Amino acid sequence: MAKYLGPACKLCRREGEKLFLKGERCSTAKCAFERRSFAPGQHGKTSGRSRSATGRASDYARQLRAKQKARRVYGMMERQFRRYYEVALKRRGLTGLNLLQILESRLDNVVFRLGFASSRAQARLLVTHGHFTVNGRRTDVPSMLLNPGDVIQVRDGSRDGTYFKELRDVAEKRTFPAWLNRDLKNLTGTVQRLPERAEIDGNLEEQLIVEFYSR
Ligand code: SF4
Repeated sequence: MAKYLGPACKLCRREGEKLFLKGERCSTAKCAFERRSFAPGQHGKTSGRSRSATGRASDYARQLRAKQKARRVYGMMERQFRRYYEVALKRRGLTGLNLLQILESRLDNVVFRLGFASSRAQARLLVTHGHFTVNGRRTDVPSMLLNPGDVIQVRDGSRDGTYFKELRDVAEKRTFPAWLNRDLKNLTGTVQRLPERAEIDGNLEEQLIVEFYSR
């Protein structure tokens, strides 16, 4: 599956806010957005392309930015993100919430939410290197969608590596959401249920994403 290989910090600067794509570094003075909080490129400081003559962003611009931001937060390319939207559309209930629940139930996101990785990008790498099992079976597919009851575990063969030996102490300081359960002693996590809206990043504007795709 294709993925964005450019600098992550540029994405934060483009969206005009911190997206926390680089784990611990994002909370330090090294964060690029803290030093340069304007869009990248020659016209970054003065860019007003997406604004109307009255200075207000157009509906399309706001919808596009909401979609791009969510896509970047979860580390998706456009084609896959759109496919998730189509799946969300077919599900019962609110399409926007369905979409967020699909994104949250990806294996790489669950590994990140459990505190087993400091960012989704790192979680994705750990999964592709085959360090996890889902319901006892080894998997290296970060986009695998998990369901309530699914159990994620660090693979036996990976537990002796330095990263996982130190993980218990590191992960203890990280919180995890109520829709997941975590057993650090056994390096295991369980999906208890799908997250409710209040348990997902409140800064995402799913309604604008739906509007973008339903144009
Ligand atoms: Fe964004 Fe993190 Fe880079 Fe800061 S350090 S600009 S929050 S990815």
